[in-house]
Amino acid sequence: MTLDLGGREAEVLGRVLERFDQTDGGHWIWNSYVNTGGNPVLMIGKGDGQKGVKTLQVRRIVFEMLNRELQPDELVWRTCREQLCVASAHLKAMTLVEYYDQLRSTK
Ligand SMILES: [Zn+2]
Repeated sequence: MTLDLGGREAEVLGRVLERFDQTDGGHWIWNSYVNTGGNPVLMIGKGDGQKGVKTLQVRRIVFEMLNRELQPDELVWRTCREQLCVASAHLKAMTLVEYYDQLRSTK
């Protein structure tokens, strides 16, 4: 697990699972916060008595909890056209190099 959730994995996953709406096509449309890049994020307290919150990428949480563990250089990419979709079935892990290779091969 590349996410540091301090043993709160179940709580975090529970919060993710109540913050999207399922639509036709199997999309899970995120209905909560997005970051400046327009990507779904979840904010949780830092835990361990620390003040403040940390911001987590929802797609990384979904992918690592429902699909598989990410390698350190892998990023989670969306495979459908819905900007706010976080469906585990619509996510794919690739390194940046693999991503650009794919872009080139599909042209
Ligand atoms: Zn989707």
